[in-house]
Amino acid sequence: MVARVIPVDPFDLVVFGGTGDLAKRKILPGLYIRFLAGQMPEEARIIGAARSDLDDAGYRAIVAAAIDEFVPQAKRDAAVIERFLARIHYVAIDAVGEGGWKALAAHMRPGVVRAFYFSVAPSLFGDLAERLHAHKIADADSRIVVEKPFGRDLASARALNAVLAAHFDEKQIYRIDHYLGKETVQNLMAVRFANILFEPLWNAQYVDHVQITVAETVGVGGRGSYYDKSGAMRDMVQNHMMQLLCLIAMEPPYQFDPDAVRDEKLKVIRALEPVGPEDIVRGQYRARPADDGKAEPSYLEDVDNASSRTESYIALKVRVANWRWQGTPFYLRTGKKLRARTSEIAIVFKEAPHSIFGENESWKANVLAIRLQPNEGMNLSVMIKEPGPGGMRLTDVPLDMSFADALGEEGMDIPDAYERLIMDVIRGNQTLFMRGDEVEAAWAWTDPIIEGWDARGDRPKGYDPGSSGPEDALMLLHRDGRRWREIRG
Ligand code: NAD
Repeated sequence: MVARVIPVDPFDLVVFGGTGDLAKRKILPGLYIRFLAGQMPEEARIIGAARSDLDDAGYRAIVAAAIDEFVPQAKRDAAVIERFLARIHYVAIDAVGEGGWKALAAHMRPGVVRAFYFSVAPSLFGDLAERLHAHKIADADSRIVVEKPFGRDLASARALNAVLAAHFDEKQIYRIDHYLGKETVQNLMAVRFANILFEPLWNAQYVDHVQITVAETVGVGGRGSYYDKSGAMRDMVQNHMMQLLCLIAMEPPYQFDPDAVRDEKLKVIRALEPVGPEDIVRGQYRARPADDGKAEPSYLEDVDNASSRTESYIALKVRVANWRWQGTPFYLRTGKKLRARTSEIAIVFKEAPHSIFGENESWKANVLAIRLQPNEGMNLSVMIKEPGPGGMRLTDVPLDMSFADALGEEGMDIPDAYERLIMDVIRGNQTLFMRGDEVEAAWAWTDPIIEGWDARGDRPKGYDPGSSGPEDALMLLHRDGRRWREIRG
Protein backbone atom coordinates (compact mmCIF):
# COMPACT_ATOMS: atom_id res chain seq x y z
CA MET A 1 0.00 0.00 0.00
CA VAL A 2 1.66 3.25 -1.08
CA ALA A 3 0.81 6.45 0.78
CA ARG A 4 -0.99 8.96 -1.44
CA VAL A 5 0.78 12.28 -1.84
CA ILE A 6 -1.26 15.37 -2.60
CA PRO A 7 0.95 18.40 -3.30
CA VAL A 8 0.25 21.46 -1.19
CA ASP A 9 -0.15 24.97 -2.61
CA PRO A 10 2.99 27.02 -3.32
CA PHE A 11 4.27 28.73 -0.17
CA ASP A 12 6.89 30.97 1.38
CA LEU A 13 7.90 29.48 4.72
CA VAL A 14 10.08 31.67 6.91
CA VAL A 15 11.93 29.70 9.58
CA PHE A 16 12.90 32.07 12.39
CA GLY A 17 15.73 30.33 14.23
CA GLY A 18 16.63 28.65 10.93
CA THR A 19 20.21 27.97 12.11
CA GLY A 20 19.09 26.41 15.40
CA ASP A 21 19.10 22.84 16.60
CA LEU A 22 15.41 22.13 15.95
CA ALA A 23 15.54 23.58 12.43
CA LYS A 24 18.55 21.44 11.57
CA ARG A 25 17.32 18.22 13.16
CA LYS A 26 13.63 18.28 12.30
CA ILE A 27 12.23 21.16 10.26
CA LEU A 28 14.65 21.32 7.31
CA PRO A 29 15.18 17.53 6.93
CA GLY A 30 11.38 17.12 7.17
CA LEU A 31 10.81 19.67 4.42
CA TYR A 32 13.40 17.98 2.22
CA ILE A 33 11.66 14.61 2.62
CA ARG A 34 8.31 16.16 1.67
CA PHE A 35 9.99 17.69 -1.39
CA LEU A 36 11.43 14.28 -2.30
CA ALA A 37 7.96 12.75 -1.88
CA GLY A 38 6.51 15.29 -4.31
CA GLN A 39 4.36 17.00 -1.71
CA MET A 40 6.25 20.29 -1.63
CA PRO A 41 5.76 22.02 -4.98
CA GLU A 42 8.66 23.37 -7.05
CA GLU A 43 7.36 26.93 -6.52
CA ALA A 44 7.69 26.63 -2.74
CA ARG A 45 10.44 28.55 -0.95
CA ILE A 46 11.99 28.31 2.47
CA ILE A 47 13.60 31.38 3.97
CA GLY A 48 15.90 30.87 6.93
CA ALA A 49 15.93 33.86 9.27
CA ALA A 50 18.30 34.00 12.22
CA ARG A 51 20.95 36.17 13.80
CA SER A 52 24.01 34.78 12.01
CA ASP A 53 25.42 36.86 9.19
CA LEU A 54 25.04 34.52 6.23
CA ASP A 55 24.14 34.72 2.54
CA ASP A 56 22.01 32.22 0.62
CA ALA A 57 25.04 30.10 -0.25
CA GLY A 58 26.23 30.00 3.36
CA TYR A 59 22.80 28.96 4.59
CA ARG A 60 22.41 26.35 1.85
CA ALA A 61 25.64 24.77 3.08
CA ILE A 62 24.12 24.54 6.58
CA VAL A 63 20.94 22.99 5.20
CA ALA A 64 22.92 20.52 3.06
CA ALA A 65 24.92 19.46 6.15
CA ALA A 66 21.68 19.03 8.14
CA ILE A 67 20.23 16.81 5.39
CA ASP A 68 23.44 14.82 5.37
CA GLU A 69 23.30 14.28 9.10
CA PHE A 70 19.60 13.82 9.77
CA VAL A 71 18.06 12.31 6.63
CA PRO A 72 18.54 8.53 6.24
CA GLN A 73 20.97 7.62 3.49
CA ALA A 74 18.29 5.84 1.43
CA LYS A 75 16.45 9.15 1.05
CA ARG A 76 19.43 11.28 0.12
CA ASP A 77 19.35 11.87 -3.62
CA ALA A 78 22.01 14.32 -4.81
CA ALA A 79 19.93 15.67 -7.71
CA VAL A 80 16.84 16.18 -5.53
CA ILE A 81 18.94 17.81 -2.80
CA GLU A 82 20.30 20.22 -5.42
CA ARG A 83 16.78 21.19 -6.52
CA PHE A 84 15.65 21.50 -2.89
CA LEU A 85 18.57 23.76 -2.00
CA ALA A 86 17.68 26.06 -4.89
CA ARG A 87 14.44 26.79 -3.01
CA ILE A 88 16.32 27.91 0.12
CA HIS A 89 17.12 31.53 0.96
CA TYR A 90 18.40 33.39 3.98
CA VAL A 91 17.82 36.75 5.63
CA ALA A 92 19.83 37.82 8.69
CA ILE A 93 17.36 39.20 11.14
CA ASP A 94 17.23 40.57 14.65
CA ALA A 95 14.00 39.63 16.39
CA VAL A 96 14.39 42.40 18.94
CA GLY A 97 15.76 45.12 16.64
CA GLU A 98 15.02 46.51 13.21
CA GLY A 99 17.85 44.76 11.30
CA GLY A 100 16.75 42.58 8.41
CA TRP A 101 13.02 43.24 8.46
CA LYS A 102 12.90 45.41 5.33
CA ALA A 103 14.92 42.77 3.49
CA LEU A 104 12.51 40.06 4.62
CA ALA A 105 9.51 42.12 3.52
CA ALA A 106 11.10 42.55 0.07
CA HIS A 107 11.59 38.80 -0.16
CA MET A 108 7.96 37.79 0.23
CA ARG A 109 6.00 36.93 -2.91
CA PRO A 110 2.37 37.86 -3.44
CA GLY A 111 -0.22 35.17 -4.10
CA VAL A 112 1.37 32.29 -2.21
CA VAL A 113 0.68 30.93 1.28
CA ARG A 114 2.83 32.65 3.88
CA ALA A 115 3.88 30.74 6.97
CA PHE A 116 6.24 31.78 9.75
CA TYR A 117 7.82 29.14 11.96
CA PHE A 118 8.87 30.60 15.33
CA SER A 119 11.69 28.15 16.11
CA VAL A 120 13.20 30.51 18.67
CA ALA A 121 12.92 31.01 22.42
CA PRO A 122 9.30 31.83 23.42
CA SER A 123 10.53 35.13 24.90
CA LEU A 124 10.94 36.29 21.27
CA PHE A 125 7.42 35.34 20.10
CA GLY A 126 5.98 38.77 20.91
CA ASP A 127 8.79 40.62 19.13
CA LEU A 128 8.41 38.50 16.01
CA ALA A 129 4.63 38.83 15.92
CA GLU A 130 4.84 42.60 16.34
CA ARG A 131 7.44 43.10 13.61
CA LEU A 132 5.72 40.79 11.14
CA HIS A 133 2.70 42.98 11.60
CA ALA A 134 4.46 46.36 11.62
CA HIS A 135 6.36 45.60 8.40
CA LYS A 136 3.19 44.22 6.78
CA ILE A 137 4.95 40.92 6.12
CA ALA A 138 2.09 38.85 7.49
CA ASP A 139 -1.41 39.19 6.06
CA ALA A 140 -4.79 37.92 7.22
CA ASP A 141 -4.18 34.53 5.60
CA SER A 142 -0.65 34.04 6.98
CA ARG A 143 0.05 31.34 9.55
CA ILE A 144 2.47 31.25 12.46
CA VAL A 145 3.83 28.08 13.98
CA VAL A 146 5.02 28.10 17.57
CA GLU A 147 7.05 25.52 19.45
CA LYS A 148 6.89 24.09 22.89
CA PRO A 149 7.24 24.92 25.73
CA PHE A 150 4.05 26.95 25.56
CA GLY A 151 4.45 28.60 28.95
CA ARG A 152 5.56 27.07 32.23
CA ASP A 153 2.32 27.80 34.09
CA LEU A 154 -1.09 29.29 33.41
CA ALA A 155 0.07 32.89 33.79
CA SER A 156 2.95 32.58 31.30
CA ALA A 157 0.79 30.61 28.83
CA ARG A 158 -1.84 33.34 29.00
CA ALA A 159 0.82 35.98 28.44
CA LEU A 160 2.10 34.11 25.36
CA ASN A 161 -1.42 33.70 24.00
CA ALA A 162 -1.96 37.41 24.51
CA VAL A 163 1.16 38.54 22.63
CA LEU A 164 0.26 36.31 19.70
CA ALA A 165 -3.41 37.33 19.77
CA ALA A 166 -2.39 40.99 19.58
CA HIS A 167 -1.51 40.47 15.90
CA PHE A 168 -2.89 37.09 14.83
CA ASP A 169 -6.28 35.47 14.91
CA GLU A 170 -6.53 32.04 16.61
CA LYS A 171 -7.20 30.57 13.13
CA GLN A 172 -3.68 31.64 12.14
CA ILE A 173 -1.85 30.20 15.16
CA TYR A 174 -0.44 26.64 15.01
CA ARG A 175 0.87 25.44 18.39
CA ILE A 176 3.00 22.37 17.76
CA ASP A 177 2.71 19.24 19.86
CA HIS A 178 4.63 16.73 17.80
CA TYR A 179 2.89 13.82 19.55
CA LEU A 180 -0.26 14.79 17.68
CA GLY A 181 1.58 14.38 14.38
CA LYS A 182 2.37 10.72 15.05
CA GLU A 183 0.62 8.23 12.80
CA THR A 184 -0.64 6.05 15.64
CA VAL A 185 -2.09 8.99 17.51
CA GLN A 186 -4.26 9.82 14.53
CA ASN A 187 -5.04 6.17 14.19
CA LEU A 188 -6.52 6.31 17.66
CA MET A 189 -9.28 8.48 16.27
CA ALA A 190 -9.75 6.18 13.27
CA VAL A 191 -9.95 3.09 15.48
CA ARG A 192 -12.43 4.70 17.83
CA PHE A 193 -14.68 6.43 15.37
CA ALA A 194 -14.50 4.36 12.18
CA ASN A 195 -15.25 0.99 13.78
CA ILE A 196 -18.35 -0.12 15.60
CA LEU A 197 -16.42 -2.65 17.67
CA PHE A 198 -14.81 -0.46 20.26
CA GLU A 199 -16.99 2.57 20.91
CA PRO A 200 -19.83 0.71 22.69
CA LEU A 201 -17.23 -0.65 25.17
CA TRP A 202 -15.37 2.64 25.52
CA ASN A 203 -16.68 3.72 28.90
CA ALA A 204 -16.58 3.05 32.64
CA GLN A 205 -18.97 0.14 32.34
CA TYR A 206 -16.47 -1.92 30.35
CA VAL A 207 -13.09 -0.24 30.79
CA ASP A 208 -11.45 -1.02 34.13
CA HIS A 209 -8.66 1.52 33.73
CA VAL A 210 -6.30 3.11 31.21
CA GLN A 211 -2.51 3.22 31.39
CA ILE A 212 -0.45 5.72 29.43
CA THR A 213 3.30 5.19 29.53
CA VAL A 214 6.04 7.26 27.93
CA ALA A 215 9.37 5.73 28.96
CA GLU A 216 12.79 6.90 27.88
CA THR A 217 16.13 5.21 28.41
CA VAL A 218 18.18 8.39 28.14
CA GLY A 219 18.84 10.83 30.97
CA VAL A 220 18.64 14.60 30.70
CA GLY A 221 21.95 14.68 28.81
CA GLY A 222 23.12 18.12 27.82
CA ARG A 223 19.70 19.67 28.52
CA GLY A 224 20.24 19.50 32.30
CA SER A 225 19.93 23.17 33.17
CA TYR A 226 16.80 23.57 30.99
CA TYR A 227 15.22 20.35 32.21
CA ASP A 228 15.80 21.10 35.89
CA LYS A 229 13.54 24.14 35.59
CA SER A 230 10.87 22.04 33.96
CA GLY A 231 10.65 18.38 35.02
CA ALA A 232 8.54 15.49 33.76
CA MET A 233 5.20 17.08 34.67
CA ARG A 234 5.79 20.20 32.59
CA ASP A 235 7.89 18.55 29.90
CA MET A 236 5.69 15.51 29.15
CA VAL A 237 2.45 15.33 31.13
CA GLN A 238 0.96 18.80 30.70
CA ASN A 239 1.28 18.64 26.92
CA HIS A 240 1.95 15.28 25.22
CA MET A 241 0.33 12.88 27.70
CA MET A 242 -2.59 15.22 28.24
CA GLN A 243 -3.21 15.15 24.48
CA LEU A 244 -3.13 11.34 24.43
CA LEU A 245 -5.51 11.21 27.39
CA CYS A 246 -7.87 13.58 25.59
CA LEU A 247 -7.96 11.47 22.43
CA ILE A 248 -8.81 8.38 24.50
CA ALA A 249 -11.36 10.05 26.75
CA MET A 250 -13.13 12.50 24.44
CA GLU A 251 -16.66 12.15 23.14
CA PRO A 252 -17.09 11.57 19.39
CA PRO A 253 -16.80 14.96 17.66
CA TYR A 254 -19.72 15.68 15.37
CA GLN A 255 -17.31 15.75 12.45
CA PHE A 256 -13.57 15.52 11.82
CA ASP A 257 -13.15 19.25 11.84
CA PRO A 258 -10.41 21.12 13.75
CA ASP A 259 -12.67 22.97 16.14
CA ALA A 260 -15.08 20.07 16.59
CA VAL A 261 -12.18 17.81 17.67
CA ARG A 262 -10.58 20.47 19.84
CA ASP A 263 -13.89 21.35 21.53
CA GLU A 264 -14.20 17.72 22.65
CA LYS A 265 -10.61 17.59 23.90
CA LEU A 266 -11.16 20.79 25.87
CA LYS A 267 -14.18 19.27 27.61
CA VAL A 268 -12.01 16.38 28.80
CA ILE A 269 -9.34 18.70 30.20
CA ARG A 270 -11.97 20.70 32.02
CA ALA A 271 -13.41 17.48 33.49
CA LEU A 272 -10.08 16.41 35.03
CA GLU A 273 -10.24 16.27 38.81
CA PRO A 274 -7.53 17.86 40.93
CA VAL A 275 -4.84 15.33 41.86
CA GLY A 276 -3.82 15.07 45.51
CA PRO A 277 -0.42 13.98 46.90
CA GLU A 278 -1.67 10.43 47.53
CA ASP A 279 -2.11 9.99 43.77
CA ILE A 280 1.33 11.24 42.69
CA VAL A 281 4.74 9.59 42.76
CA ARG A 282 7.75 11.56 41.61
CA GLY A 283 11.26 10.21 41.13
CA GLN A 284 14.84 11.09 40.30
CA TYR A 285 17.23 8.57 38.78
CA ARG A 286 20.21 7.47 40.82
CA ALA A 287 23.75 7.05 39.53
CA ARG A 288 24.62 3.84 37.75
CA PRO A 289 27.54 2.29 39.63
CA ALA A 290 30.71 1.35 37.76
CA ASP A 291 30.27 -2.34 38.64
CA ASP A 292 26.99 -2.26 36.69
CA GLY A 293 28.72 -1.69 33.36
CA LYS A 294 29.62 1.89 32.54
CA ALA A 295 29.22 4.31 35.45
CA GLU A 296 26.68 7.07 34.82
CA PRO A 297 25.89 10.18 36.88
CA SER A 298 22.71 10.62 38.91
CA TYR A 299 20.01 13.13 38.02
CA LEU A 300 21.37 15.55 40.62
CA GLU A 301 24.86 15.31 39.08
CA ASP A 302 23.45 15.63 35.55
CA VAL A 303 21.72 18.90 36.39
CA ASP A 304 24.57 20.03 38.64
CA ASN A 305 22.16 20.90 41.44
CA ALA A 306 22.49 18.76 44.58
CA SER A 307 19.32 20.20 46.15
CA SER A 308 17.10 19.89 43.05
CA ARG A 309 13.53 18.74 43.71
CA THR A 310 12.66 18.43 40.02
CA GLU A 311 11.31 15.06 38.91
CA SER A 312 12.78 12.96 36.10
CA TYR A 313 9.90 10.51 36.64
CA ILE A 314 6.27 10.96 37.51
CA ALA A 315 3.29 8.65 37.90
CA LEU A 316 -0.21 9.96 38.51
CA LYS A 317 -3.67 8.60 38.99
CA VAL A 318 -6.03 10.86 37.08
CA ARG A 319 -9.81 10.88 37.17
CA VAL A 320 -12.05 12.25 34.45
CA ALA A 321 -15.20 13.47 36.17
CA ASN A 322 -17.95 12.87 33.63
CA TRP A 323 -20.60 10.24 32.93
CA ARG A 324 -18.49 8.18 30.56
CA TRP A 325 -15.49 7.75 32.86
CA GLN A 326 -16.88 7.82 36.37
CA GLY A 327 -14.91 5.13 38.25
CA THR A 328 -12.33 4.43 35.54
CA PRO A 329 -8.94 5.87 36.50
CA PHE A 330 -6.28 6.90 34.01
CA TYR A 331 -2.78 6.04 35.25
CA LEU A 332 -0.05 8.11 33.62
CA ARG A 333 3.68 7.58 33.99
CA THR A 334 6.72 8.96 32.24
CA GLY A 335 10.37 9.06 33.06
CA LYS A 336 13.97 9.08 31.98
CA LYS A 337 16.55 6.28 32.33
CA LEU A 338 13.88 3.62 32.51
CA ARG A 339 14.13 -0.01 31.41
CA ALA A 340 13.16 0.51 27.76
CA ARG A 341 12.16 3.22 25.33
CA THR A 342 8.48 2.85 24.74
CA SER A 343 5.27 4.86 24.43
CA GLU A 344 2.09 2.95 24.91
CA ILE A 345 -1.56 3.45 25.72
CA ALA A 346 -3.31 0.44 27.22
CA ILE A 347 -7.07 0.19 27.57
CA VAL A 348 -7.59 -2.52 30.17
CA PHE A 349 -11.13 -3.88 29.98
CA LYS A 350 -13.07 -5.38 32.84
CA GLU A 351 -13.18 -9.10 33.30
CA ALA A 352 -16.10 -11.03 31.87
CA PRO A 353 -18.93 -10.85 34.43
CA HIS A 354 -19.30 -14.59 34.88
CA SER A 355 -17.09 -17.53 34.07
CA ILE A 356 -18.80 -20.56 32.62
CA PHE A 357 -15.41 -22.29 32.76
CA GLY A 358 -15.10 -22.15 36.53
CA GLU A 359 -11.96 -20.95 38.26
CA ASN A 360 -9.15 -20.37 35.84
CA GLU A 361 -5.82 -19.07 36.98
CA SER A 362 -4.74 -17.85 33.59
CA TRP A 363 -7.86 -15.75 33.13
CA LYS A 364 -6.92 -12.23 32.06
CA ALA A 365 -8.89 -9.17 31.11
CA ASN A 366 -8.82 -8.05 27.48
CA VAL A 367 -6.34 -5.28 26.81
CA LEU A 368 -6.16 -3.03 23.78
CA ALA A 369 -2.59 -1.77 23.65
CA ILE A 370 -1.71 1.03 21.25
CA ARG A 371 2.03 1.35 20.71
CA LEU A 372 3.42 4.69 19.58
CA GLN A 373 7.01 3.51 19.65
CA PRO A 374 8.86 1.41 18.85
CA ASN A 375 7.14 -0.60 16.12
CA GLU A 376 3.89 1.37 15.87
CA GLY A 377 0.83 -0.76 16.04
CA MET A 378 -2.00 -2.20 18.04
CA ASN A 379 -2.48 -5.34 19.97
CA LEU A 380 -5.70 -6.75 21.40
CA SER A 381 -5.31 -9.58 23.88
CA VAL A 382 -8.14 -12.12 23.81
CA MET A 383 -8.79 -15.29 25.74
CA ILE A 384 -8.89 -18.53 23.74
CA LYS A 385 -8.85 -22.20 24.51
CA GLU A 386 -5.38 -23.53 25.07
CA PRO A 387 -4.73 -25.84 22.11
CA GLY A 388 -4.57 -29.56 22.77
CA PRO A 389 -6.50 -32.25 24.55
CA GLY A 390 -6.06 -30.79 28.04
CA GLY A 391 -9.73 -29.91 28.43
CA MET A 392 -11.19 -26.41 28.46
CA ARG A 393 -8.12 -24.54 29.64
CA LEU A 394 -7.89 -20.90 28.69
CA THR A 395 -4.98 -18.78 27.61
CA ASP A 396 -4.59 -15.25 26.30
CA VAL A 397 -3.19 -14.56 22.84
CA PRO A 398 -2.49 -11.25 21.15
CA LEU A 399 -4.39 -10.23 18.03
CA ASP A 400 -1.37 -8.32 16.90
CA MET A 401 -1.43 -5.65 14.25
CA SER A 402 1.96 -4.26 13.55
CA PHE A 403 1.44 -1.49 11.01
CA ALA A 404 4.71 -2.45 9.33
CA ASP A 405 3.49 -6.03 8.81
CA ALA A 406 -0.04 -5.04 7.82
CA LEU A 407 0.83 -2.25 5.44
CA GLY A 408 4.20 -3.42 4.15
CA GLU A 409 7.41 -1.44 3.77
CA GLU A 410 5.95 1.17 1.43
CA GLY A 411 2.83 1.64 3.51
CA MET A 412 5.07 2.33 6.45
CA ASP A 413 6.88 5.08 4.64
CA ILE A 414 4.81 7.46 6.70
CA PRO A 415 5.93 10.99 7.35
CA ASP A 416 7.63 11.93 10.56
CA ALA A 417 5.44 14.06 12.84
CA TYR A 418 7.16 17.29 11.83
CA GLU A 419 6.79 16.58 8.11
CA ARG A 420 3.09 16.00 8.47
CA LEU A 421 2.49 18.96 10.77
CA ILE A 422 4.32 21.46 8.54
CA MET A 423 2.32 20.30 5.53
CA ASP A 424 -0.87 20.71 7.61
CA VAL A 425 0.13 24.32 8.32
CA ILE A 426 0.43 25.02 4.60
CA ARG A 427 -2.90 23.28 3.97
CA GLY A 428 -4.47 25.36 6.73
CA ASN A 429 -5.60 22.37 8.81
CA GLN A 430 -5.43 22.99 12.56
CA THR A 431 -6.84 19.64 13.76
CA LEU A 432 -3.48 18.39 15.04
CA PHE A 433 -2.48 21.65 16.74
CA MET A 434 -3.38 22.79 20.22
CA ARG A 435 -5.83 25.64 20.54
CA GLY A 436 -5.06 28.45 23.01
CA ASP A 437 -7.90 27.56 25.36
CA GLU A 438 -6.78 23.90 25.45
CA VAL A 439 -3.28 24.90 26.51
CA GLU A 440 -4.61 27.23 29.19
CA ALA A 441 -7.01 24.60 30.53
CA ALA A 442 -4.15 22.07 30.71
CA TRP A 443 -2.07 24.52 32.75
CA ALA A 444 -5.04 25.35 34.95
CA TRP A 445 -5.14 21.64 35.91
CA THR A 446 -1.34 21.33 36.20
CA ASP A 447 -0.55 24.44 38.26
CA PRO A 448 -2.18 23.40 41.57
CA ILE A 449 -0.48 19.98 41.35
CA ILE A 450 2.96 21.56 41.02
CA GLU A 451 2.18 24.27 43.57
CA GLY A 452 1.07 21.51 45.95
CA TRP A 453 4.35 19.62 45.93
CA ASP A 454 6.36 22.86 45.98
CA ALA A 455 4.44 24.07 49.05
CA ARG A 456 4.86 20.73 50.82
CA GLY A 457 8.55 20.63 49.89
CA ASP A 458 8.13 17.07 48.56
CA ARG A 459 11.32 15.38 47.44
CA PRO A 460 11.26 12.94 44.52
CA LYS A 461 12.08 9.30 45.38
CA GLY A 462 15.24 7.74 44.01
CA TYR A 463 15.08 4.99 41.37
CA ASP A 464 17.72 2.91 39.69
CA PRO A 465 18.59 3.53 36.06
CA GLY A 466 17.22 0.72 33.91
CA SER A 467 14.36 0.06 36.35
CA SER A 468 10.62 0.75 35.98
CA GLY A 469 10.77 3.79 38.26
CA PRO A 470 10.44 4.27 42.03
CA GLU A 471 8.99 1.42 44.12
CA ASP A 472 6.22 3.72 45.33
CA ALA A 473 4.85 3.94 41.79
CA LEU A 474 3.99 0.23 41.97
CA MET A 475 1.87 0.95 45.03
CA LEU A 476 -0.17 3.52 43.14
CA LEU A 477 -1.78 0.59 41.28
CA HIS A 478 -1.31 -2.21 43.82
CA ARG A 479 -3.49 -0.50 46.37
CA ASP A 480 -6.26 -0.42 43.74
CA GLY A 481 -5.74 -4.13 43.02
CA ARG A 482 -4.09 -3.40 39.68
CA ARG A 483 -0.60 -3.54 38.23
CA TRP A 484 1.42 -1.64 35.69
CA ARG A 485 2.13 -3.28 32.40
CA GLU A 486 5.74 -4.21 31.90
CA ILE A 487 7.91 -1.56 30.26
CA ARG A 488 9.20 -3.35 27.16
CA GLY A 489 10.99 -1.98 24.12
P1 NAD B 1 18.72 27.02 19.34
O1 NAD B 1 19.28 27.77 20.49
O2 NAD B 1 19.50 25.88 18.79
O3 NAD B 1 18.47 28.04 18.14
C1 NAD B 1 17.93 29.30 18.34
C2 NAD B 1 17.78 30.02 17.03
O4 NAD B 1 17.20 31.30 17.29
C3 NAD B 1 19.09 30.29 16.28
O5 NAD B 1 18.85 30.13 14.91
C4 NAD B 1 19.36 31.76 16.58
O6 NAD B 1 20.09 32.42 15.56
C5 NAD B 1 17.96 32.32 16.64
N1 NAD B 1 17.89 33.55 17.45
C6 NAD B 1 18.18 33.71 18.76
N2 NAD B 1 18.01 35.00 19.12
C7 NAD B 1 17.58 35.68 18.01
C8 NAD B 1 17.24 37.03 17.73
N3 NAD B 1 17.29 37.99 18.68
N4 NAD B 1 16.84 37.33 16.50
C9 NAD B 1 16.76 36.38 15.53
N5 NAD B 1 17.09 35.11 15.72
C10 NAD B 1 17.49 34.74 16.95
O7 NAD B 1 17.25 26.56 19.78
P2 NAD B 1 16.41 25.27 19.29
O8 NAD B 1 16.84 24.11 20.10
O9 NAD B 1 16.47 25.17 17.81
O10 NAD B 1 14.94 25.63 19.79
C11 NAD B 1 14.11 26.56 19.13
C12 NAD B 1 12.72 26.51 19.73
O11 NAD B 1 12.19 25.21 19.59
C13 NAD B 1 12.66 26.80 21.22
O12 NAD B 1 11.45 27.44 21.51
C14 NAD B 1 12.67 25.42 21.84
O13 NAD B 1 12.05 25.41 23.11
C15 NAD B 1 11.84 24.67 20.85
N6 NAD B 1 12.07 23.22 20.84
C16 NAD B 1 13.28 22.71 20.53
C17 NAD B 1 13.45 21.34 20.50
C18 NAD B 1 14.79 20.73 20.14
O14 NAD B 1 14.85 19.52 20.09
N7 NAD B 1 15.81 21.49 19.88
C19 NAD B 1 12.39 20.48 20.78
C20 NAD B 1 11.15 21.03 21.07
C21 NAD B 1 11.01 22.40 21.08
